[in-house]
Amino acid sequence: MRIDILTIFPEMFGETIHSSILGRAEEKGILEFFTHNIRDYSQNKHRNTDDYPYGGGAGMVMLAQPIFDCVEAVSAQSEVKPRCIYMGPRGKRLSTEVAKELALEERLLILAGHYEGIDERVMSLMDDEISIGDYVLTGGELPAMVLIDCLSRFIPGVLGSGESAEEESFSGSGLLEYPQYTRPASFRGMDVPEVLLNGNHAEIEKWRHHQALLTTAKNRPDILKKALLSEKDAAFLRDSGFELEK
Ligand code: SAM
Repeated sequence: MRIDILTIFPEMFGETIHSSILGRAEEKGILEFFTHNIRDYSQNKHRNTDDYPYGGGAGMVMLAQPIFDCVEAVSAQSEVKPRCIYMGPRGKRLSTEVAKELALEERLLILAGHYEGIDERVMSLMDDEISIGDYVLTGGELPAMVLIDCLSRFIPGVLGSGESAEEESFSGSGLLEYPQYTRPASFRGMDVPEVLLNGNHAEIEKWRHHQALLTTAKNRPDILKKALLSEKDAAFLRDSGFELEK
């Protein structure tokens, strides 16, 4: 997949998208990243990329002209038309489903806004607006990195053979993940649960499933409501003191 990122702060991406699992995917040729400075496309004498909002109000708005020219020039760099995404708090909320769908694309163009946001006319170039959560950040650069990291995990070959995007919180069963431990078995007086040490895989699976149910019920009852619980699961949670809606 080719990913073009349009930003006025390309330096913010630094090593982030070229390190660790993403860096390995880049080396393997599965992912390609290109950052583009919107400022380079400004036709303004001072290379401005923002101006005051019509109608007044606080802050500055990113100009349409440099973004239009940047999107058009970058899109033309490859024969594959990119799916264009604006990172914005008003957008569709990023989720595993959204990430999986985007991971099927051959090419993405991601626009990071700044200040009060972008001139709305830019949205005529975008296919989607995606939010990373119900809060407002100073710019779209971190959201773009979150989106890239999240969707990359669903591109075949990005995760190694020992890693799986399916056995994680929010995937598969829809529950949050069970607690994990590694060596040593005892650390500062805290012991790894005995069941994980005995090699009985059926027992381990059962314990992990129960822990996933308990963590989800405690931290995210909203998710539990959507998860498909068996009668046994529901009984286990009730016995553990959680009240379940019918
Ligand atoms: N005035 C905008 C509003 O109230 O919806 C917020 C603008 S925000 C300060 C500046 C930029 O940060 C936005 O253009 C967007 O690209 C990015 N941004 C901020 N919060 C975001 C979020 N939750 N998800 C995605 N992008 C976000």
